[in-house]
Amino acid sequence: MLKVDIITLFPKMFEGPFSESIIKRAQDKRLTNIQINNLRHWATDRHQTVDDKPFGGGPGMLLIPEILFECIEDLKSKNSDSHVIYLSPQGKIFKQNKARQLSKKQHLILLCGHYEGVDQRVIDTLVDEEISIGDYVLTGGELPAIVIVDTIVRLIPGVIEGEGGTEDESFSNNSLEYPQYTRPAEFRGLKVPSVLLSGNHAEIKKWKNEQRLKVTKKKRKDLL
Ligand code: SAM
Repeated sequence: MLKVDIITLFPKMFEGPFSESIIKRAQDKRLTNIQINNLRHWATDRHQTVDDKPFGGGPGMLLIPEILFECIEDLKSKNSDSHVIYLSPQGKIFKQNKARQLSKKQHLILLCGHYEGVDQRVIDTLVDEEISIGDYVLTGGELPAIVIVDTIVRLIPGVIEGEGGTEDESFSNNSLEYPQYTRPAEFRGLKVPSVLLSGNHAEIKKWKNEQRLKVTKKKRKDLL
């Protein structure tokens, strides 16, 4: 079972996304175990200080190394085979292939930065990889952590029910998904492609493959 430990200064940010829909069901079915760890828990002084000014000047505050070392080492000591990810705009852009790899890990530690980020020694010493969710700067790593957990959890076998699971989805097979339709078969004169109503499985499969290619060529040629 995949265990995920998230390190954050803002645990409440996870309450909504992790207590609804597929992520909630995956936890209820014990297909994953997600723990939200408040970094202040590892603070040692009276004021529970977690940040300080950067050496050499510059705006903002950085998360200090002592507490991050304590926290990450503590979480690692309670698990085996931990993989530590720092959510960072400087990381490699998150893609479906990476999500697939991560969904097979035993234990993920997701470190959410805040303010100006974290002391470089934490990244150099304890972090296995830095991941970005796009070329823009967010206030903190919480939203990226939610995006990553959501993407990974739905790839765990048994989480998405129904035939095929996530195999046909966009970015599997280096392409986007084919168009899909539901009832009614005709709505305001707009008809569902007749092949989908034919019951001919071979023809339907062929149509889906053709459409998958057509859509990908039109919207995301770079994937092909
Ligand atoms: N000073 C940093 C820089 O310029 O590279 C940006 C710090 S950002 C304001 C604060 C935190 O948000 C980061 O430590 C990181 O954890 C998170 N963050 C911001 N943008 C992100 C992105 N695109 N992907 C992943 N994490 C991001």
